[in-house]
Amino acid sequence: MAPQPSLLTLAERQVTETLERRRGDIVDLAATLVGFDTTASRTGADGGEVPALQALLAARMQSAGFEVELFVPEPDDLPASRMLAAGHDMTGRPQLIARRPGTGDGRSLLLNGHVDVVEVGRREAWSSDPFRARLSAGRLYGRGACDMKGGVAAMVLAAEVLAELGVPLRGDLSLNTVTDEESTGAGSLACVARGLHADGCLIPEPTSGHVWLGSRGVLLPTVEVDGRAGHTGLARGDELDGPGVGAIERILPILEAMRGLREQWWAQRGPSETPGWIVPTHISAGEWIVTFPDSCSVQLHVTYGIGQADADGWGTAVEREVEARVRAAALADPWLAAHPPRVHWSTDVPSGTISADEPIVRTALGAAASLEHHTGITSQTTWIDAVTFSRSGTPAIGFGPGDLANAHTVDESIDVSELVRAAQALAVCAMRFCGVAGERSPRPRPRSERTEGVAQPAGLLAAP
Ligand SMILES: [Zn+2]
Repeated sequence: MAPQPSLLTLAERQVTETLERRRGDIVDLAATLVGFDTTASRTGADGGEVPALQALLAARMQSAGFEVELFVPEPDDLPASRMLAAGHDMTGRPQLIARRPGTGDGRSLLLNGHVDVVEVGRREAWSSDPFRARLSAGRLYGRGACDMKGGVAAMVLAAEVLAELGVPLRGDLSLNTVTDEESTGAGSLACVARGLHADGCLIPEPTSGHVWLGSRGVLLPTVEVDGRAGHTGLARGDELDGPGVGAIERILPILEAMRGLREQWWAQRGPSETPGWIVPTHISAGEWIVTFPDSCSVQLHVTYGIGQADADGWGTAVEREVEARVRAAALADPWLAAHPPRVHWSTDVPSGTISADEPIVRTALGAAASLEHHTGITSQTTWIDAVTFSRSGTPAIGFGPGDLANAHTVDESIDVSELVRAAQALAVCAMRFCGVAGERSPRPRPRSERTEGVAQPAGLLAAP
């Protein structure tokens, strides 16, 4: 449905109508961004195509009149954190901060998005080149189209149009594009360490236009089990009496225990809470096809719910719970009792959430309501950089185009109309949150602020 003119100010209408006319430019930018291979695991020491992408965005923001800063964080620039391994290396991956100073007396707003993407997987499964965006039946296809180069294009166009139309925002408007979101969250962490902060932050991750108040935490342990190398041709009734013991089969009780813990977490979840979840994501064992594998290690992606986190958001209690479950499984197994598994912990990405009463939340819900977008709050879902900003004093939410179900998939895609709607919502949020100089009368109040309509916390939606 078209925006309801009566719910938008004249200036807001001018901005949203301009963005509607700029639909082609939004799609072009999203397609251009998809064209850069910024796969998180393959950027290497030269940053792969990250520097070129960031330089392109920096140039655009500069020509829109923003003050621009591009910097590559040194290991010493990063704070000591459970989120990062010591000496985390970001060589070759510049972070972009662009700022348009306000006229004064307004709240500052930050728009943040990540430009790294995940592996494409098997290329032959894709209908077309994942790094050459394809437009078909109103959808844009390509790696990152949904998560979240589409959202980045929407926020860039929103910022550009506000600047081009000379909308005199009272508060500063900053735009920040980062890397390392798909791995550790180091990009936004580095920007915060550099001093980036604001009165509110919007991150157009694929939230289907809903508001994410925060996210669950993530732990990435590896569990290692020993076997015993030996010739597989020497059969024994009981393998444990034989010359070799295969570690692949010996790790099965551990996998079973992790599945049990996952199911327990799910069964014990509270109302409207997304609980923790454990998924074995990588397994490694074996040297030769006629040799018992003498070790087997499995990597686990452990997500923990906000209710499972320590008081300060970290996952140390969850670490202890996982270790206890591994120990219990080992004690119940003759081989593992004599050969205890080892659990190695790496990074801990903390959970966190903000109150639905934060002004940035009210602004996002109000703007969406004025634009007649279907919206609501989901509070606990996948990790996004919002937690880093919220923990550092900048209340941040996820609020963007596309469905998370289309992220990280083969033939990843996004609805072009959602890109335009997101750009409009972000621009209206900026005008309302930062304020517009010279605007005298209070803007019309959207329904969400008059009644308990769709945008109220009461309308909490189930998290994906
Ligand atoms: Zn993302």
